[in-house]
Amino acid sequence: SPTLAATYPFAAQVGGHAGVQATEDNSLLLKPALPREIDFYQRITAASDSDELSKLRNWIPKFLGVLKLEGQLKDSSAVENGGVGNVEVVPVHGNMAPEDKEHLVLENIAYGFVKPCILDVKLGTVLYDNGASPEKQARMIKAAQNTTSGETGVRLTGFQVYSNDSPKPILTPKSYGKSIKKEQLPDGIELFFPVSSAPYPTPPNPIETPESDVSNPGLPPILLHCVLTTLQTDLEELKAIMSNIEMRMVGGSALIVYEGDWERASKALSTSSGTATTEEDEDDEVEVEIDENGQIVLESIPDEAIEEEEEPQAPLCSLSLIDFAHTRLIDGAGPDEGVLKGIQTMIDLIRQRKDKITAML
Ligand code: ADP
Ligand code: MN
Repeated sequence: SPTLAATYPFAAQVGGHAGVQATEDNSLLLKPALPREIDFYQRITAASDSDELSKLRNWIPKFLGVLKLEGQLKDSSAVENGGVGNVEVVPVHGNMAPEDKEHLVLENIAYGFVKPCILDVKLGTVLYDNGASPEKQARMIKAAQNTTSGETGVRLTGFQVYSNDSPKPILTPKSYGKSIKKEQLPDGIELFFPVSSAPYPTPPNPIETPESDVSNPGLPPILLHCVLTTLQTDLEELKAIMSNIEMRMVGGSALIVYEGDWERASKALSTSSGTATTEEDEDDEVEVEIDENGQIVLESIPDEAIEEEEEPQAPLCSLSLIDFAHTRLIDGAGPDEGVLKGIQTMIDLIRQRKDKITAML
């Protein structure tokens, strides 16, 4: 179970500002946040079930609350050595006022994945907020024009993928997504959804892979096809929900995570239909007993009685919206058309990629 006694730099952060911390068990994240983002999470959490806003809850990380930190642990090993009172702290953001050092406590979307392949896609055609200075607005208009954002509503930020035979992720920095043109977006999507050329199912005695093969990332076509199918459906559902939400989301992202470990990916596929489960409901432990009338009774063993703790099984893939630092919910404003455009661009890109994979099956 998670504890906030010690936190560590979050290893699977693919974009944004440094400073996201994870709990020791990696299930929760602490993200430095300004009042705007805290408000957003609080409003979504408080929305009644009849309110359209409540439908967003399925598409954002679970929000556990706000934590006010006096600063960041400079060296987490100091906790073991000196206890919390003695650790040296450094400011979260150099330019943050002390009273702003509040952190969101959020579900780590990548938790439970063995090899989380993660893509942060910035959504929207407008990258500035009405509150920004004229200089910043001008800069962000240029930024949108000079990247894929302006025309398509998406920009690939950082991403990481895995090769099945290596524990280390292969990273692509945000400079890549910033540099490409609209016509190259399918190439970028192919880099994030690579198809592995290695044989599958894995042979019983895996052949030693030469060092050069370690950078051969991706899933076998059949698994990748399932990932893409699920994501396309999810994106379509998300688009429908977002078209009923009156907001302006500036600089926010879609975070896509899929399982890069072949065995876990096929297990996720067989234990659920792509939706999140932390327990294996299918194979509930059952005990066979004969009662006093000689009848056979099946008795399920309560979860607490099962000794070994199961590793959390993540879904095959997941789609979430993150980063609401510059998001406003505005009654009467209508949906964010730039964000809807971005989601549609993603739907088209995923469909294209899926069609290519279909041809390989
Ligand atoms: P920033 O304002 O720094 O861009 P983000 O909210 O985008 O802040 O977070 C930065 C990065 O941290 C993201 O690109 C993503 O890799 C990671 N991240 C943020 N929130 C989560 C989450 N709930 N689960 C998993 N990863 C996350
Ligand atoms: Mn971000």
